[in-house]
Amino acid sequence: MRPTLFVSDVHLSPARPQIAELFLRFLEREAREAAALYILGDLFDLWVGDDDPLPLNGAVMEALGRLSRGGVGLYVMFGNRDFLFRDAFTARTGARLLPDPSLLALDGTPTLLMHGDTLCTDDVEYLRQRARYRRPWVLRGFLALPRAVRVAIGQHFRRKSERTKRVTASTIMDVNPATVEAVLRTHGYPRLIHGHTHRPARHLHTVDGHVCERWVLADWYERGSYLRLDQNGLASAALT
Ligand code: MN
Repeated sequence: MRPTLFVSDVHLSPARPQIAELFLRFLEREAREAAALYILGDLFDLWVGDDDPLPLNGAVMEALGRLSRGGVGLYVMFGNRDFLFRDAFTARTGARLLPDPSLLALDGTPTLLMHGDTLCTDDVEYLRQRARYRRPWVLRGFLALPRAVRVAIGQHFRRKSERTKRVTASTIMDVNPATVEAVLRTHGYPRLIHGHTHRPARHLHTVDGHVCERWVLADWYERGSYLRLDQNGLASAALT
């Protein structure tokens, strides 16, 4: 059985060329052997539109396209840094965009995939802003701006988010357990896989007598890592 792989929070950026290289190598090697690759958000540190001419963006889209044309199912979910993939991105990469959350039967086990930011409900201010800037007319208006303006706005928000992260208590930046339980209940007690918090772990939640696994993906700041689902179940793997 070909494995199914999951990554998130790669945060590709020209500022971290080694990580970009590592990710491209991952696409050529480990991912090539897989039945499918799920990218659960924040693949890019910043995405201001499919027309950004950054060489990195082009190289990654080409590599993703080679992967999907080679027969690997490619699924991409928006993160809080890259929620503006549109038709040009999907045409070039062959990726299918996944709504957040997405409930799939993987290997016969109902599995809920999320980026994870909407589980961090203690961060009330972030969620308020998220609701504001994800409105369709706001996104349409943003994408209609000249590219240089979009880059400037995107970088402004990224710096602001870095500043906020430094001064916000780390408990507020983690998932809220009651929200996790509510999400598991709503979706019939599935297995949950998400990223965003950069706190890789396997948790067990008992909800209404059902034991649910929650896998948190690691970020790629220091090294590469992914989750692998095969006949033995889920396991995390690291790249160096
Ligand atoms: Mn995120």
